[in-house]
Amino acid sequence: MSETASGGCQCGAVRFRGSKFGRASICHCRMCQKAFGGFFAALVTVHDLQWTRGAPRTFASSNKVQRGFCGDCGTPLSYDTGNGTIEIAVGAFDDPTIVPPAIQVNPTDKLGFFDGICSLPTRAAGADPEQEKFNASLVNYQHPDHDTAEWSPRGAH
Ligand SMILES: [Zn+2]
Ligand SMILES: [Zn+2]
Repeated sequence: MSETASGGCQCGAVRFRGSKFGRASICHCRMCQKAFGGFFAALVTVHDLQWTRGAPRTFASSNKVQRGFCGDCGTPLSYDTGNGTIEIAVGAFDDPTIVPPAIQVNPTDKLGFFDGICSLPTRAAGADPEQEKFNASLVNYQHPDHDTAEWSPRGAH
């Protein structure tokens, strides 16, 4: 795949771009669960990665892996084993559908409820008036899903 794609963290302090992608994966390992604060990490190798605004801070989650995240807003962004290629969080892309996951890895740590998530009941949009009121009152501080010539991150304290 060679479509140029951009992305970045929630606050917009860190942005990236690339066009040469590997096979996107979902990793169920316990370290990815913690690093993403979620049930798994979705990652894709970007062979021609450029950081186009700012740069991630890093945390060495092991002797082999540096994990990158935005130092301002905390968005998980990257996974680097130091082998010359870096993996980027699929959800951080402006359009994550460009790099859909194609395989699951490290299933040993997969959370027991994971396979049932898609069968959970869904509250229809608009079904909760209080939630609708809350949503309508929101002022969005998140960086938009496209590159911006200038951007002042908002919402940081
Ligand atoms: Zn940020
Ligand atoms: Zn993992």
